[in-house]
Amino acid sequence: PKTTGHREVPEKVALAENALAVLNKRYLKKDKQGNPIETPEDMLRRVARTVAAAELVYNPRCDVRDIENEFYGLMARLEFLPNSPTLMNAGRELGQLSACFVLPIEDSIESIFDAVKHTAMIHKSGGGTGFSFSRLRPESDRVGTTGGVASGPVSFMRAFDVATDVIKQGGTRRGANMAILSIDHPDIEHFITAKQQAGVLTNFNLSVAITDKFMAAVRDNGEYDLVNPHNGEVFARRKARAIFDQIVQLAWKTGDPGIVFIDRINAENPTPQLGKIESTNPCGEQPLLPYESCNLGSVNLSKMVKGNGKKEVDYDKLGYTVRTAVRFLDDVIDVNKFPLEQIAEQTRRTRKIGLGVMGFADMLIDLGISYNSPEALATAEAVMGFVQSESHRASEALAAERGVFPAYEGSMYDGKVKMRNASCTTIAPTGTLSIIAGCSSGIEPHFALCFTRNIMDGTRMIEVNPCFERAARDGGFYSEDLMKKLAEGAHLEDMTEIPAEVKKLFVTAHNITPRGHVMMQAVFQKYTDNAVSKTVNFPADATVPDVEGVYLMAFDEGLKGITIYRDGCKADQPMSTGKAE
Ligand code: UDP
Repeated sequence: PKTTGHREVPEKVALAENALAVLNKRYLKKDKQGNPIETPEDMLRRVARTVAAAELVYNPRCDVRDIENEFYGLMARLEFLPNSPTLMNAGRELGQLSACFVLPIEDSIESIFDAVKHTAMIHKSGGGTGFSFSRLRPESDRVGTTGGVASGPVSFMRAFDVATDVIKQGGTRRGANMAILSIDHPDIEHFITAKQQAGVLTNFNLSVAITDKFMAAVRDNGEYDLVNPHNGEVFARRKARAIFDQIVQLAWKTGDPGIVFIDRINAENPTPQLGKIESTNPCGEQPLLPYESCNLGSVNLSKMVKGNGKKEVDYDKLGYTVRTAVRFLDDVIDVNKFPLEQIAEQTRRTRKIGLGVMGFADMLIDLGISYNSPEALATAEAVMGFVQSESHRASEALAAERGVFPAYEGSMYDGKVKMRNASCTTIAPTGTLSIIAGCSSGIEPHFALCFTRNIMDGTRMIEVNPCFERAARDGGFYSEDLMKKLAEGAHLEDMTEIPAEVKKLFVTAHNITPRGHVMMQAVFQKYTDNAVSKTVNFPADATVPDVEGVYLMAFDEGLKGITIYRDGCKADQPMSTGKAE
């Protein structure tokens, strides 16, 4: 069935200054002198045309221009955007369209350095890589061929880190890595302290893969075994509490390591017959099998509100957007140029896609709902529940048209419902997409009403929240002086001239309790096939037990993983309030 909807296609995409700056810098095609040779409209046309070409694989006589126009319209109205590599590379030489990859690392020098090479190839194309280092024998273990001693997972991570630095100098998007180590690996303590020195492993996020058994041992104050993956022998016993306390303490201090609940991830692994999931992509929202990749896309919820005066979610529009986006993302798999044959094969077996949302905080403001309220949780539940069920229905419709994903037999859908994609929904951080679309990122609350954003290469951009600016102008309390004060770090709640309902509506990440952040993540996780990227913000004066409480709550609330961020705990913050330079 053809996606329907004759919606307006704007002649020019309504891009803010910051959005244009980002596109000019890294997304638009350039000549040899570095001058852009395409407009943002050309870029979206290039993407729409390339992706729509996949339709011909299934139906050589279809009117591909129709579909191309629908894809173009969706993006040009900034209602949906695919992940950055699709925008950058579609219809161009690289042609690599996915943001997320997981590579296997076996316990051999050959496998480790194959993975380093494959990482370099993926980073070059704008993708991020995740790995489990759990199969590597521990530090000081014997090496058979040389009689020497092994270096252990943490040493080898340095090789990936240096390779990432070198590729970064090539000028594309920063390559990001996730390193996962199992809680029962003998080197676990070395791993969890690996990022405590400044400037070490800066291209890595670290997460400990925590098992249900370990969590039970933490609760019962029991012990657990560290096991050498090389020979299966018990290496030592540890008090679960001692290790857990150490993880919490370090996360409090620096934000690393995060944790992933690996048993829960595998309980929801859609294709268990293909093996276990050992890792996620760099920001944690996409668990994947070894050699699997996934392309993401996000619906801009700030564009899904209707009505004058009393506003409401426009479910008709959201439904159309989700269905068209699912078709788009499924098409991406067929036109994607994969960096490795193994990745092409594994990805085509499961055909995972990851549709998520951005602009959620903006939507709430438009609806007159405070992020910090029960109505916000209810809205999240309704909206994401709808996105998930519509995306599944769209994938079912595609299965009827194009067939089920090849690894369907033995999958969790086998015998229940025919699906084109082993997973449909993922909530990405949308770090750059949200700048391009001019909306709040992912499901995060606004970080601040006015702030300075540090972009990867040292550029700093000042941003005044457009919703707030509009509300201030409409409410008659806009002034240059107010914006300046806020930019310098003043808090809205301390300002007497601001009406109480405005203060309530424009809550920022710091006004929301860590538990409030976890609750929001949990609601979205409930309706997300893959996982949810969310930062749980803590104030600078939060205590170690505060962090511990939230880690335990994350487990109890059904999250697949959690990362926390205590204000000021890292020298180089990605975003900061305060005076612009
Ligand atoms: N990613 C990456 N490098 C970056 C940003 C992102 O490799 O500098 C990858 C990573 O796998 C991350 C995913 O892209 O989890 C999605 O990130 P985000 O939504 O912020 O990307 P966007 O599409 O907005 O650029």
